[in-house]
Amino acid sequence: MQKDKPILFDRKEQCCGCTACFAVCPKNAITMKPDEEGFMYPNINDEMCIRCYKCITVCPIKNKL
Ligand code: SF4
Ligand code: SF4
Repeated sequence: MQKDKPILFDRKEQCCGCTACFAVCPKNAITMKPDEEGFMYPNINDEMCIRCYKCITVCPIKNKL
């Protein structure tokens, strides 16, 4: 069974747009896209993602606890 695509954020408050996930992705599966206010948020390409979860590991917001 295929693993789930990682969820980088549910709500925008859970992402500061630091681009660390974008930078770390070994498959270049993440693109940064601006929202309607021009703030950049990561978007994962489901086809390209190999579910390595490096993007989750590197995210400063998910790992600040
Ligand atoms: S799980 Fe791995 S391949 Fe998928 S978006 Fe995150 S870093 Fe990229
Ligand atoms: S690493 Fe986390 S905070 Fe940074 S852009 Fe990616 S999801 Fe947002």
